[in-house]
Amino acid sequence: MRILFAASEIFPYAKSGGLADVGASLPKALRALDHDVVSVMPLYSFIAQDRFEHNVFEFEVMLGGVSYNVHCHKEHHTYFIEAPLLSTTSYMYGEEGRDYADNDLRFGLFGAAVVMLSRALHVEILHLNDWHSALATLWIKAQNLPIKSVFTIHNLAYQGLFEKTSLRRLGLGIDFFTPERIEFYGKVSFMKAGIAYADTITTVSPNYAKEILTPEFGCGLEGFLRLHVKKLTGVLNGIDTDTYNPVTDTALMHPYSVESLALKEQNKKALYRELGMKDSKKPLFVMISRLVHQKGIDLLIKALDSLLKKPLELLILGDDSGSYRNVLEKASAKHPNLKLIFGYDEALSHRIYAGADFLLMPSIFEPCGLNQMIAMRYGTIPIVHNVGGLHDTVHETHGACGWGIRFNTPSSRALLGAVDRALKLEKEVYLQMQNFNMNCDFSFAPGAKSYHHIYRNLLAKDAHV
Ligand code: ADP
Repeated sequence: MRILFAASEIFPYAKSGGLADVGASLPKALRALDHDVVSVMPLYSFIAQDRFEHNVFEFEVMLGGVSYNVHCHKEHHTYFIEAPLLSTTSYMYGEEGRDYADNDLRFGLFGAAVVMLSRALHVEILHLNDWHSALATLWIKAQNLPIKSVFTIHNLAYQGLFEKTSLRRLGLGIDFFTPERIEFYGKVSFMKAGIAYADTITTVSPNYAKEILTPEFGCGLEGFLRLHVKKLTGVLNGIDTDTYNPVTDTALMHPYSVESLALKEQNKKALYRELGMKDSKKPLFVMISRLVHQKGIDLLIKALDSLLKKPLELLILGDDSGSYRNVLEKASAKHPNLKLIFGYDEALSHRIYAGADFLLMPSIFEPCGLNQMIAMRYGTIPIVHNVGGLHDTVHETHGACGWGIRFNTPSSRALLGAVDRALKLEKEVYLQMQNFNMNCDFSFAPGAKSYHHIYRNLLAKDAHV
């Protein structure tokens, strides 16, 4: 099966969150099943091009009566779309807390170029991810191309909404601007295009697939999704178990396995030294996250004073773009057991997963969440709000993978209660949890098998027509 996988970020070239991880690990897991999979992403200005095969394709993309020259480069299994506007910005989506004003055109061009690449490569399946490439589904249908499209929703909260004037810029006729198509409360919605025009829709966990059909989690699209529910399936994400492997992880001072768990303590000590932290006898709770409301930062901040009076250390590695920095810094000045690191640091995140005792994930909603799976692979016990993919991957017992602590209401009280339960865990039980989780399969192998069936069914349907 010839498959093209399109995403706005793919690790290690560009990453702001889990989409980039999946952009690398799912195609790799599909290749392990002998599928012929290549990927495509935008060429951003910060991506090193020294190992590129340059200009493997050149396309002229017409949008809204304007012709754009698009160059397509390649490295290993990944194609890069170099287009005006898309490739000249310093960041992927925006800067100083604001999205780029021409993201409609930037990612519209990306979607259109992805369709041209699909044709040039004669792919049978085009797998699109989130709103950035969603318009490709519409153009495939409009051009009646013999390509089946799969659209995966990684986070329904980011919808790609633009003013009505985008229609003209993107060359889309007014007949697309209806509630059954891509109009959403007077705006153009890229996300709706993906939902309306893809042959199949998936999302990143079975539980989130149910949740997004409700007003609480549907972000206003629950009704529209219910209309298309026959096309919707939840496929649980996995992690790249080579990238996240405590046995071979070159970011760690002391690589370890489930058989040499004592070395985890050495990693904790090394982490404390690296970050200039003092007390390594107390349990270390960590958060590694984008600092946004979704991730439960407001809950955490409300709980902080009580939390930091408990016998624990708290370390937060969070990106620097949000508005929470001030209040967190104030709390840290008051409580020496709160350590803050702002910024995005891949290698440090690995050392934190290895050195921590508990990972906090009080997310208000969480489509799948990868942090908890990475944590469990490193023998760190997750404490999660029982929502979305956290519900599917963290259980209070050792029946299904994995084993952690979860709380049912998104309140600081419930979070504090869960932390208390963590602090009261007997050493023996804690060790059992670590052992159980480190033997779990959090890889993308099961997810890739599900996608194999999804792709096969799509092509089989076609063969029967
Ligand atoms: P989301 O995609 O919503 O941000 P996920 O749990 O799906 O959340 O994926 C988050 C990914 O980003 C994980 O690989 C996590 O380790 C990583 N990550 C998040 N914040 C940081 C950070 N500040 N520095 C390094 N890695 C981070």
